[in-house]
Amino acid sequence: MPELPFIQVLVEHLASLLTGCTITHLHLASPSVLKTFEPPLSEARGRSIDLVRRAGKFILLDLSGGLSIAVHLMRNGRLRVGPTRVRGQRAPRLSKDVAFIMTLDDDREVRFVEIGPKKRAALYVLPTDGMLEREPLLGLGLDPLGDEFTPDRLKGMLALDSGQLKHFLTLQRYITGIGNAFSDEILWEAQLSPFVRASKLTPEEIAALYQGIRATLTRGLEEHRQEFEDHGPAKEPVKLLRVHRHGGEPCPRCGTKIAEVAYAERETYYCPSCQTGGKVYADRRLSRLLR
Ligand SMILES: [Zn+2]
Repeated sequence: MPELPFIQVLVEHLASLLTGCTITHLHLASPSVLKTFEPPLSEARGRSIDLVRRAGKFILLDLSGGLSIAVHLMRNGRLRVGPTRVRGQRAPRLSKDVAFIMTLDDDREVRFVEIGPKKRAALYVLPTDGMLEREPLLGLGLDPLGDEFTPDRLKGMLALDSGQLKHFLTLQRYITGIGNAFSDEILWEAQLSPFVRASKLTPEEIAALYQGIRATLTRGLEEHRQEFEDHGPAKEPVKLLRVHRHGGEPCPRCGTKIAEVAYAERETYYCPSCQTGGKVYADRRLSRLLR
């Protein structure tokens, strides 16, 4: 699933393409993608796109007249901007992957596509005013690159959570924008075990975690900006990750083989030397097969 650096660069790219354009037509190809009923989607017609921004993993389009569209790509959602292929009200022949098409006043369109059989991506129409206090944005935690995210706030959040540290990092109610990949990257940077209880961290470990979050996401953002300088990001690049999806390869810090544990379709990658005091955890997928 796309995470903060990827979504932020996508938002910057979409802002450069869409700001100032007016929406002339909306085609909801897959009605199940739309999660709100009031205000209706048709309300967006005729409005201009004033601002494109990000809240956690959500992409927000603020339209003129106080209306906003929020998009969550989930794992396989994509937003593509290109020349329009839909004219007027005539129902076009579309692939099952097309969820939504927004036609603009300059002969371009935004296509919201979700690849594959699992349809989980989501579209919301919301009044801009008070939007962050409504579902689905209600309850989102702090932006890890924002000013409000301080070592003290992190300490307070950790004290509330008895789960494993990796899981804590992926919960959007504490810190937003971090998922399965960047939680591994952050914990490797901070030299902390993904499996330790969040509430059990020492003050030194909390300081290391804070630095790890800031440094990893700042660098990730810079590298994503460089990688996708001329075109929008299409796919999360594995080469910009240091340990996640690099199982069996040498740790970039110490050369130990990166270990991999899979649990509930989520893979965790870590360096046994740098992060878990030499301990290698059993891969539960493998133990299940051997049982
Ligand atoms: Zn290492």
